[in-house]
Amino acid sequence: MSTSFEVINPATGEPFTAVPEAGTVELDAAAAAATRAGRAWRALPHAERQQLVLALVATVRAHLDELALLLTREQGKPVGRARGEIESGLRYCESFAAMALPVEVVRDDTDERVEIRRVPVGVVGAITAWNYPLLLALWKIGPALVAGNTVIVKPSPYTPVATLRLGELARSVLPAGVLQVLAGGDDLGRALTAHPAINKISFTGSERTGKAIMASAAPTLKRLTLELGGNDAGIVLDDADPAAIAADLYWAALSNCGQVCAGLKRLYVPERLASAIEEALAAVAATIVVGDGTRDYVDMGPVQNEPQLRRVRSLTAAAEQAGAQVYFRGEAPDGPGYFHPVTLVRNATEEMAVVAQEQFGPVLPILTYRDIDDAVARANASDLGLGASVWSGDEGRAVEVAERMEAGTVWVNQHPMLSPDVPFGGVKQSGLGVESSLHGLLGYTDISVLRIKR
Ligand code: NAD
Repeated sequence: MSTSFEVINPATGEPFTAVPEAGTVELDAAAAAATRAGRAWRALPHAERQQLVLALVATVRAHLDELALLLTREQGKPVGRARGEIESGLRYCESFAAMALPVEVVRDDTDERVEIRRVPVGVVGAITAWNYPLLLALWKIGPALVAGNTVIVKPSPYTPVATLRLGELARSVLPAGVLQVLAGGDDLGRALTAHPAINKISFTGSERTGKAIMASAAPTLKRLTLELGGNDAGIVLDDADPAAIAADLYWAALSNCGQVCAGLKRLYVPERLASAIEEALAAVAATIVVGDGTRDYVDMGPVQNEPQLRRVRSLTAAAEQAGAQVYFRGEAPDGPGYFHPVTLVRNATEEMAVVAQEQFGPVLPILTYRDIDDAVARANASDLGLGASVWSGDEGRAVEVAERMEAGTVWVNQHPMLSPDVPFGGVKQSGLGVESSLHGLLGYTDISVLRIKR
């Protein structure tokens, strides 16, 4: 590799390392290696691939501390959360490694036997965002490999370090070319999505990039899984107990410094309960310590990158100018890192960008409603539909409202809860296809029908 680029630690605002930058030459070589390796990999018995994926899991787990520290230094999240991210990703891989690819027998009679089989798609390009670099990569690597594909991962240029280390570790466990990691910017992503030797793109990132990928993948008709942005609404019903739900609401919105695709990003509360909920949320927010994620007393790290920090600040400032009120602003170090205080905003409206767009930062706008039909209509008035939630002491009432919410997942009294055995994906412009569960695994396969005449 001829060039390299620097990676910034968001807690200091300074570069802490440099990584090799892949260009089209390296991409061509990786794609050729992945294609070659794929022939033997797809021919392995399923059980052997499962064992090799479990061996990869064991190797990564043996390097958990090292990887977690790298993740904190490039992403910003507290080390304990970084460990949690990796452990979670490994549990997803273990879950995929326990799955078989179903063979469906449509008929088997004296005339004909017909089977629907699942075959690998070929080479998968996995492109990830900067909020959960290793979790997102493992969500894609696990099912892609188990299903018999080979994989080239392209992490975000903001957070390539831990993923590159994962690629190194994989080389000691998997046959050459089965899993490769290439670091580079958006141009490398564009080249990957247009490359004729790549058969599928599994992408996690913004809606805008997802649409560009769909266009770029069209000439070669690549298979696509797109996990895009969300602007998830949560509706609190008028029977909820503010004190009882405040901590869960807080973390639903503000874990990972608010940088969660399916985080709660717009909170609708009944007028009657608004001040009690606002106060209860502020009480939780007041306990949060913001700082460098390598310090063990820190609850929330910095925003991951400087453009995002500027964006979150400007969304908040614009909302204030338009009449919203920042009623809670927590403490945060002055910098030079990209720290942003926990910020709770009331009197927000849908006309404000902080509500209309996903903030992807530690800011929660709170909106009030009088009539539940109005709240549901406002919550659904979005092109996005990743997640949504309803909060209530009465499960039956909550489910009635939940059934009217337009989202890939609707949670009741929680948000966002993800599990390896439950599909996760968005409706509307939040994505295409799902990850996790057998549904996610099947997304890394094509159907191949076998018809035997008798
Ligand atoms: P982004 O779309 O800017 O970048 C994501 C990745 O795509 C990076 O690796 C980037 O280099 C690459 N890329 C950029 N332009 C490309 C192009 N034209 N072709 C191919 N690749 C390209 O997103 P981001 O800012 O890194 O991440 C934040 C966004 O991701 C938010 O919108 C968030 O909601 C979303 N996200 C969604 C999920 C989900 O599961 N739905 C999870 C995490 C983040």
